[in-house]
Amino acid sequence: MQSNRREFIVGSVVGLVSAAFLPHVAYAAEELSETDPSAVALGYRADATKVDKVKFPKYATGQVCANCQFYQGSASTRTAACPLFNGKTVEGAGWCNGYVKKA
Ligand code: SF4
Repeated sequence: MQSNRREFIVGSVVGLVSAAFLPHVAYAAEELSETDPSAVALGYRADATKVDKVKFPKYATGQVCANCQFYQGSASTRTAACPLFNGKTVEGAGWCNGYVKKA
């Protein structure tokens, strides 16, 4: 009986500690690589000034992830998730062909 109570208490403490740290694990988004096939397809560059302007003529100077409507961070956030890339993080100074100016 004493043993069951002890196991219950230990189990509860482990559960609480796990719950306290799980959110950090769940939101640790992966950084988008420029060589990721979906990034290549949309011409993503971590530095918008390096965009291939011949291949992606839609790009205009001043367009960056930080002022795109898909960017999940504020304008001053260095990196943030982008739903076009399954929530992987992109650079605020980056750009891809899915760019839509934030309203
Ligand atoms: Fe950046 Fe917008 Fe392209 Fe996402 S959709 S990578 S925020 S330009």
